[in-house]
Amino acid sequence: MCIMVYENGGEDMEPRLRFSYLNQEEEMAIRQLRFEGDPILNKICRNVTEMTPRIKELIEDMLDTMYEANGVGLAAPQVGVLRRICVIDVGEGPYVFINPKIIESSGEQTGDEGCLSVPGLFGCVTRPDYVKAEALDMDMKPFTVEGTGLFARAMCHEFDHLDGKLYVDMVEGDLHRADVEE
Ligand SMILES: [Zn+2]
Repeated sequence: MCIMVYENGGEDMEPRLRFSYLNQEEEMAIRQLRFEGDPILNKICRNVTEMTPRIKELIEDMLDTMYEANGVGLAAPQVGVLRRICVIDVGEGPYVFINPKIIESSGEQTGDEGCLSVPGLFGCVTRPDYVKAEALDMDMKPFTVEGTGLFARAMCHEFDHLDGKLYVDMVEGDLHRADVEE
């Protein structure tokens, strides 16, 4: 798997972390997850136009909520907020995406996918194997990120949430329980 981050139009290609998860003195704030069947998960989210203390707090809570649930990604509608924000951590540190867009994708991967809003279940979904996306970071600065494998899959999955789409509608075959797989 490969993850690279660089500024839009910048020459600096050094990968760097977009968000420092250092608020360890603050209390964790876990938000209530929304589950499949909740109509909020099928709504189109609105763009974020400015960073406010409320949105910053939402993002911090989303990270706490994702880690608490052992997820690799979480989108704002999954905690009941119809804003185009998602967080992803596939094991190499957290990424925050505001108003993300896929600008390039290629290849194909077929494999199991799960969702914190559909707990305990997995299903086979085909996604691009390479995804390049642009988004805004916590400072509302544009960045571009590209990833393959799980990171590419996570971007597709989380960005779909912002358009009210759940992976269960793309599953090939049946959903299965985690314990059948393992
Ligand atoms: Zn999901």
